[in-house]
Amino acid sequence: MNVSDKFIRSLPKIDLHCHLDGSVRTQTMLDLALRQNYNLPADNVEELRKYVRVPPDCKSLSEFLERFNVFYPLLKTPYALERVTYELLRDCSYENTKYMEIRFAPVLQKTENFPVPEVIESVLKGLEKGTSEFDIKAGIILCLYRGSTPEEIKETAEWALRMKKYGVCGVDIAGDETSYGLSDFRETLDFCRKNEINMTIHAGEAGGPENIAEAVEMGALRIGHGVALAKDPNLREILIEKGIPLEICITSNIHTQVVDGYDCHPFKELHDKGVVITLNTDDRGVSGIDLTYEYNKAVELGLKVSDLADIILNGVEYSFQDEAKKNRMKEEFIKQIKGRMQFYEK
Ligand SMILES: [Zn+2]
Repeated sequence: MNVSDKFIRSLPKIDLHCHLDGSVRTQTMLDLALRQNYNLPADNVEELRKYVRVPPDCKSLSEFLERFNVFYPLLKTPYALERVTYELLRDCSYENTKYMEIRFAPVLQKTENFPVPEVIESVLKGLEKGTSEFDIKAGIILCLYRGSTPEEIKETAEWALRMKKYGVCGVDIAGDETSYGLSDFRETLDFCRKNEINMTIHAGEAGGPENIAEAVEMGALRIGHGVALAKDPNLREILIEKGIPLEICITSNIHTQVVDGYDCHPFKELHDKGVVITLNTDDRGVSGIDLTYEYNKAVELGLKVSDLADIILNGVEYSFQDEAKKNRMKEEFIKQIKGRMQFYEK
């Protein structure tokens, strides 16, 4: 079925898995470099994209991660973080994303003179500005980073609790899951559960299904990626039974070599077997994609247009918003989606 880009763009959408640092506009990197007197390898958007965007024939995870190193030093100031958050909301609202959860690891942005609370505050300022100016709502997820110190992990979770009423809606565990398990996080995750801080955990992306099982055992309400679930039918049934959704990011998995190609991605098989899935971008800047692109890909790979409605509503249902907000959003979305679908069928 040929689904127009315009139709998908017009659907109200949700992005639950979006990294702030992977979603920076190339032009903004140039502006920030100018402000900070920082040398980038190129001085125009077209040239710089060769360094900060994944090439379509990306061969390895390290090639993907190298992209971040080029511009990362620019993202450690209040101005930069407020601006990239604001611009991300603007970009997403333009493709009709109505709600998103933006995640970042404060430990990666902090410096000696820019401590964690100020890092979070800068992002929240951008969030406030963006959500008041554009037709989009959003929450912030703080990433606890694999490989950081136990103190840093604990501190980030404590700030998630303190900043709850200002827009922080949960925590995530990000970083290299093949080198770092979750044992360092046990105490902090207990703290999160006790304080009702929502948890999502990157698991079963580069690692195996056992990492998903561990994340579920630790209290994850959602799993970031979780493509390895396709390898373990028993675990798949457990996730279905518990109603734990996967935050699927198709193109990112191709770029990081988690799956060999679009045709091998297991999202449709998992969806068909009853796993709750959502569709998300991960790193829209570095990957050079948007959510509309990901939806188009999903349809190209066999998802029915009617499935898209379910997936969008999964995004509402499993978002880290309170029940009243979810219910209102669901009602509004159903109306909008029905209208679009009718229009589409004509
Ligand atoms: Zn991610």
